[in-house]
Amino acid sequence: METTGARVRVEACGKTFPDGTHALEPISFEIARGETVAMLGPSGCGKTTALRIIAGLMGPDAGGSVWFDDEDVTSLPIERRHVGMVFQSYALFPNMTVEGNVAYGLKIRKVPKAERAARVGEVLDMMHIAELADRAIDQLSGGQRQRVALARALAVRPRLLLLDEPLTALDASLRERLRTEIDALLRSLGITAVYVTHDQSEALVLGDRVIVMEKGRIAQIGTARDIYLKPQSRFVAEFIGTMNRIEGSIRTGRFESAVGGLAVERADANSAAAFFRPESVRLERPESAPFRLTVERVHFLGASQRLHLRGADAGRPIIVDTDNRASYAPGALVGIAVAAEDLLFL
Ligand code: ADP
Ligand code: MG
Repeated sequence: METTGARVRVEACGKTFPDGTHALEPISFEIARGETVAMLGPSGCGKTTALRIIAGLMGPDAGGSVWFDDEDVTSLPIERRHVGMVFQSYALFPNMTVEGNVAYGLKIRKVPKAERAARVGEVLDMMHIAELADRAIDQLSGGQRQRVALARALAVRPRLLLLDEPLTALDASLRERLRTEIDALLRSLGITAVYVTHDQSEALVLGDRVIVMEKGRIAQIGTARDIYLKPQSRFVAEFIGTMNRIEGSIRTGRFESAVGGLAVERADANSAAAFFRPESVRLERPESAPFRLTVERVHFLGASQRLHLRGADAGRPIIVDTDNRASYAPGALVGIAVAAEDLLFL
């Protein structure tokens, strides 16, 4: 299937609702042709509002604009933007068959009947639901409905595909399977896409880049690696993945913490809190390690295990991810070490 993705530019798009809610501060970003951008953030941070503005379902506040390639589409309604949308709730027509739903957008665009049938067949095949063509919507499972919604969005060959938490209503294993399929689909179609989610694993897997949102603002834009390994704020560090934090004190480039006597020399140690990931911790023999903690809980996860460790202080436990080989008993003493370069000061 041939599609040509649009390059998208969002320029100073903010939204204040009539009741005074500031849903979105003016935000700006660009999406390259064929790129998938995942928009990630907690509930209420403005993701759906941003997506609706890009789709043309609502306008931005004065001063904002949306561009597809070199065209200013700010005042174009959704039906003239050539976008496909998929929502969390399927928004299918319950009184039409699967085929009727998928053909609908083509019908209103006056695509001739023969071509319509060919295109419907093509997207039903693509979504592996050809055998469901004559089914009624209420005879479908949640996952099948979401496949129909995707097929319907793709049938019109949009320049831009907008997905708003499309997998949130599905159970975990189905969510993972469809996530993989959507990833393959977006890559093979070369379509430009914005994928809104509050699920970090979806964002990290699907996004060529991830936009992390916080309270109507962009907290950080970057590749999954950047966002995870080089978070630029405490919010991003703690929102994505698990992060340990230890408090300490700073003396010109030296961070010292009472927890286990951790001290590191780092010229950029400019904050009294050091952050590190569970997988950055090396477990050592307690006798020789500078930093000793007690095993509080062990969560065996199959491929790996997650230890909750405690020092003498009553603060948060230190979380450590390690392979599945050694067995750790609650109450045991372990030594840990973190490389200085794996510490983040935020
Ligand atoms: P998200 O999709 O990230 O959960 P939304 O974009 O739906 O967030 O909402 C952002 C904020 O705007 C929330 O505080 C929400 O309650 C508010 N909001 C959304 N739609 C409206 C509306 N039509 N009128 C007033 N407030 C709204
Ligand atoms: Mg939303």
